Amino acid sequence: MLKKECSLKFSCTLETSSERIRLVNVISPLIKAGYQLVSQKQESSEKGGNLIYVIARSQSAKTQADLIDDLSFIEGCTLVNLEIDEDESSSAAPAKKVLDEKSVLSAIGAYYPKIADIVSQYEASLPSDRRMAALHELGRKVGGGIYQRDYSLGSPLKMPTTINRELVPALKGFSKVKAKNNVIYLIKCPFCNPSDHSHSGCHFVVGYIEGFLANNPAVGVVQVEETNCGANSTNICEFTIE
Ligand SMILES: [Zn+2]
Repeated sequence: MLKKECSLKFSCTLETSSERIRLVNVISPLIKAGYQLVSQKQESSEKGGNLIYVIARSQSAKTQADLIDDLSFIEGCTLVNLEIDEDESSSAAPAKKVLDEKSVLSAIGAYYPKIADIVSQYEASLPSDRRMAALHELGRKVGGGIYQRDYSLGSPLKMPTTINRELVPALKGFSKVKAKNNVIYLIKCPFCNPSDHSHSGCHFVVGYIEGFLANNPAVGVVQVEETNCGANSTNICEFTIE
């Protein structure tokens, strides 16, 4: 039984060792490990931690042993209950479930700026015709959120100062960055390389730059385009802001 590989649906309860270890700390590693959440709930435990109830399913084939490994790997938690839904195994195989943007955003919040894996998992979970638009939209939300979080205090900087003083430092969380006037180069862009032929991963960066600048009240409407993609060649991706 432990060797059978299939898509698993399970419900589990984890108890965290302190109240500071919360739902997000549990679900983010699960999303990262490729599980799709069905429902999640948090309650305070009698021992001063939290009880986290999760129902989820694996997106790829996993054995029960893999699942137990993944659950045991979550820091600061003890697995107190696990039930695996046997019936799911045969029926759930065909359709790969789309990750939901909300859970992706909360995983991004927990791991920022090391988010390339999460972004590419989201990308891979989507049907190919939706990837570009969804990654663009996700990028806009993340870039906008980072501007709000880190740069919205004080008087807003105009173009092109905001590029060098704010946008470039923000993008440096992902890779080495160079900027020349309105052109930005991501050297070893972590989003482009693993992306599919439609370069949907690059659209995360396009969206990020747009969202970041759109949240700056001193910047008017801008359009961003990836003018050169380095995936599978130089690995330097070029983004132009117009
Ligand atoms: Zn690219």
